[in-house]
Amino acid sequence: MPSTEQNYQAVQQRLQQACRNHQRDPASVRLLAVSKTKPAAQVEAVYRLGQRAFGENYVQDGLEKITALAHLSDIEWHFIGPLQSNKSRLVAGHFHWVETVDRDKIARRLSEQRPDTMPDLNILVQVNISREAQKAGVLPEQALDFARTVAALPRLQLRGLMCIAEAEADQAVLAAQFAQMRTLFEQLQQEFPLVDTLSMGMSADLELAIACGSTEIRIGTDIFGARDYPDAPH
Ligand SMILES: *Cc1c(COP(=O)(O)O)cnc(C)c1O
Repeated sequence: MPSTEQNYQAVQQRLQQACRNHQRDPASVRLLAVSKTKPAAQVEAVYRLGQRAFGENYVQDGLEKITALAHLSDIEWHFIGPLQSNKSRLVAGHFHWVETVDRDKIARRLSEQRPDTMPDLNILVQVNISREAQKAGVLPEQALDFARTVAALPRLQLRGLMCIAEAEADQAVLAAQFAQMRTLFEQLQQEFPLVDTLSMGMSADLELAIACGSTEIRIGTDIFGARDYPDAPH
């Protein structure tokens, strides 16, 4: 079985190759290492390889690692799971980014609950680009208005948009959806100069996402191996 280090280097290679193929500067694409269900020691091992941004889906699982790794002062924690309002205070108090904001109520709570002593909480608006009924995210036509609402709230810093691609879509459908994300992202950048993040693309669609302007790729299993327990239903 390949080691975590070999996995990590292989993912970095894929990312850099995709950037070269599409004339992108590798420094313009952040790798988010999705460490959900994985122990703090394995996160720390990947940190030692140079990785700084980690994604967590579950509040309790994430908090345990944030606490255990508090000595790593430049580690960056991104919350990327569904967020219930009764957990928003914990997320506002411990994470650097929340990528799955799609409701007024959650945005307001994060804004009110972000401690004054911490820097602004970076926010991505999740967009349901595939318009799937069961999927989280605002519809594309609502994304700009909702982003404006977020941008107006104190202690939040709007940084961009996030989407989760449709699982079974073929390349052409996916490419059209990614292109639509890019258009929304560029519109948002016109209005908000600090918007710099388009979180789009996972292991299966990394190459296409980079071709379509993604600035953040989220990879879990290919770095850390299969999950230690199954994902809870979202
Ligand atoms: C789990 C997860 C990932 C990573 O998925 P892998 O298949 O393990 O690479 C990326 N994005 C989100 C939102 C996730 O929940």
